[in-house]
Amino acid sequence: MSEIGMIVGLRCPHCGAALPETTKELVKCSYCGTTARVEDADKYLRHLQGFVINWVRTALPLGLGGASSSSIDPLARHSIFPQNVFPSLNSEFSKIQLEAFEAFSFPLVAPPFIGHTFGYNQQKDPKDLFSYDAKVSSVQPLAVTQDDQAVVQKFGGLSRAFAHVLIGLDLAQKSQVKPYKVIAENFAVAANSLQGQSEILSRRMMALSEIYLSIDEALSKQTSKSRTRIKSAKAVLEEVLSKSALDINLSICSSAIEQEIEVANTVLLINDLVERDPTGDQMDNVARVEKLFSATSTTCAASVSSWRHRFENFGRYSELTKWLYIVLGAKKGFNSIKIASGSGNTLFPFWVAEIEYTFSTGALWMRKGKYVKEAALVTATFPLYQNFAASPSEVVTDIFSRRPEGAFIGSITGSENAISTGENIKILVQRASLKSASGYKIIPPLSTVSEANQLMNDYLQQVSRELGGKLHIASCDMANILFVPADMTTGFINFQGSLGYVQPKKIGDVSILNSISV
Ligand SMILES: [Zn+2]
Repeated sequence: MSEIGMIVGLRCPHCGAALPETTKELVKCSYCGTTARVEDADKYLRHLQGFVINWVRTALPLGLGGASSSSIDPLARHSIFPQNVFPSLNSEFSKIQLEAFEAFSFPLVAPPFIGHTFGYNQQKDPKDLFSYDAKVSSVQPLAVTQDDQAVVQKFGGLSRAFAHVLIGLDLAQKSQVKPYKVIAENFAVAANSLQGQSEILSRRMMALSEIYLSIDEALSKQTSKSRTRIKSAKAVLEEVLSKSALDINLSICSSAIEQEIEVANTVLLINDLVERDPTGDQMDNVARVEKLFSATSTTCAASVSSWRHRFENFGRYSELTKWLYIVLGAKKGFNSIKIASGSGNTLFPFWVAEIEYTFSTGALWMRKGKYVKEAALVTATFPLYQNFAASPSEVVTDIFSRRPEGAFIGSITGSENAISTGENIKILVQRASLKSASGYKIIPPLSTVSEANQLMNDYLQQVSRELGGKLHIASCDMANILFVPADMTTGFINFQGSLGYVQPKKIGDVSILNSISV
């Protein structure tokens, strides 16, 4: 029987994980990727052993620390675990469990090329978790009953799983070129560590490991492998999600799992894009996705807090990928998009909003209410303009900026029929037609339908405030994307007057728009 307080095997001095056996001077950690000198790993092991032995001395009754478990009277051994060992390990475990579940309530994978972090602010050092695990396994010989052994499994398993998740997240957040396979390995170990105690959580970790592998395959253009893997990982996550919702401990992970499913959707779409890679083109579609995602995630991370939570929703990246797919398809003649009439070499994306409002007009006894149906456009690249949240009117066709002709007299007599001037936009939308877009340069949308809706509502609220209650919004629907032809030259976009004086003042940095155009 092994000695109490003994730990064996080299440990990585950087992350604390177990190192492979070696006869060489240098050894590479398979979990954090650091190469360490065996000498340093050995030093760390001795430090850890000292740490564990010290703890055993304080946790065990006097004189038993360092003894071999077989030398302890079996009857005494039976009571040492529940009376001495368990209380000492348990108080620390409660803290670890709390921290682990806090981490697991964040999405543990992000779409590739995303600049910002996952939302989880990592402060825990995986080394501390491995040290705790070393304590737990060092007293394993004292766990004689089945219950005691289950405690050892549970305490050690969760702390090891949490440690590996932290190492994986650290690699995913810090490195420029993400070592997806190494990250996947950490999640696979986390899944194994949780087996037998939290089956649902274990399956989630395994699915995440598979997602990391499938991202690696998608980016290296092994699409059929990637697709098979991501489809089954997504199915597992969907099952895990439905079971988590019913579990009191795991229900806090539900929204994180939904986000992870969105990542799976994005990877599926990236596979579709990669398979449609144009031959003979200078830039492949993986590079296009990278440009699009990094451009939008960088500016979104810098936006105001009321918008940031929207932008941190990973569902937006599957929506943006879908649009990129549609736009590329239109360019190749596979499908059509809605194009407005007008001249120019570049197609610029706008969301079409259908607005219904009522307003009151007429003075005193001539006062009455009128109902108007209008159309307005939202610049689909608005997240690129830093100040959009504070001044939404700059990124939409500002149809309330001028009153229709004769408005002054009309507002007294009550004969005015509208307080907006969206007539041009309505005609532009009505005359647009579905067609393929070969020969055009196309800018893919950088916002989602719900983001555009929010922006338009912010704008309408602002107008309503400015008009002091004259305007009441009945509804605002975001219909579709309309591509408006424009001429794009260095630093400038010219819509050739097709949007009239309501043309949005800001559309985003033209050099970024140029770099993401297809
Ligand atoms: Zn390591």
